[in-house]
Amino acid sequence: SPIPDYLQVVVDHSSYDNPGHNASYISELRDADPNRVGACLSTVDGVVYAAGDTDVEFTIQSISKAFVYALALEQNGLEAVLERVGVEPSGEAFNELSLEQVGTKEIADGYTSTGLWIRRRSGNSGPLETDTRRPLNPMINAGAITAHTLIGPAGISADERFELIRKGLSAFAGRDLGVDEAAFESEMNTAYRNTAIACMLRNYDLIDVEPEDVVKAYTRQCAISVTARDLALMATTLANGGVQPLTEERVVRPEVVRQVLSVMMTCGMYNGAGDWVSSVGIPAKSAVSGGIMAALPGQLGIATFSTRLDKHGTSVRGVRICKRLSDDMGLHIMHAP
Ligand code: GLU
Repeated sequence: SPIPDYLQVVVDHSSYDNPGHNASYISELRDADPNRVGACLSTVDGVVYAAGDTDVEFTIQSISKAFVYALALEQNGLEAVLERVGVEPSGEAFNELSLEQVGTKEIADGYTSTGLWIRRRSGNSGPLETDTRRPLNPMINAGAITAHTLIGPAGISADERFELIRKGLSAFAGRDLGVDEAAFESEMNTAYRNTAIACMLRNYDLIDVEPEDVVKAYTRQCAISVTARDLALMATTLANGGVQPLTEERVVRPEVVRQVLSVMMTCGMYNGAGDWVSSVGIPAKSAVSGGIMAALPGQLGIATFSTRLDKHGTSVRGVRICKRLSDDMGLHIMHAP
């Protein structure tokens, strides 16, 4: 097949220069070799093509959000998940402390939790009401942390929940995935913002576990180690309607995949979602570690790896590679043949 040579040409062409910067807030990301670049493509029948650094491990970071959202949907159903996490693009930074207001609920007289907006329904006498809120979508940290807590039976420990998530992501990849403990430790050293987000979620009863515990387990989720090959196969499991192409295990149902790919399409690429949808046109998720994974329903999964990021936090050369593949192979889903 000419595809491997072609893929190598695309990777080489993407590297005429190497602009952008490594993410700096986790030392393992800051110090990662910026010269590495790789691309992997896998068809739904499990044929894998690779070029460049596709066996180098890096932390999955935000790409995990798409898969944990899938596992949350598989376990709880769409309705229950939508109660806690919306599907609207935020137009804000991925780590914004924000929640959309979805309604109001009656609360007991005399209940005065801090930070809640409280009023009486009718003048001075009606029942007390407060606003109910939820994160805008599962691809920003507020939504991702909420989705994380929806995994597993109520009452399990943070460690047990993490283990279910690690196993779930491994099922998507078709191999047992490990954790980069050093990257986990360094992110935990400065995880104040995610802790603030988790406290905000706890305040609004969107999560019912201790903020410190959930931030630890969520940060460990972000530190799961993958290669571009793993990510391509994980994407292909989505493209294949939820069945892993090599192990043939059904990981999630087709309805779940539809929901996940829809949200990836509108919210998967930080604030560059509009740019990405119009120029590449494939549901995708990127991560600060330099990975991008994209899934074209019924056809293939793509993953790229190159650590230097653009102003949105997405890999510069990764975007170039995906755009080229999309153009050359007519992968844009809005493209009328
Ligand atoms: N662990 C990162 C965070 O929550 C994920 C960031 C990303 O890849 O966008 O800050």
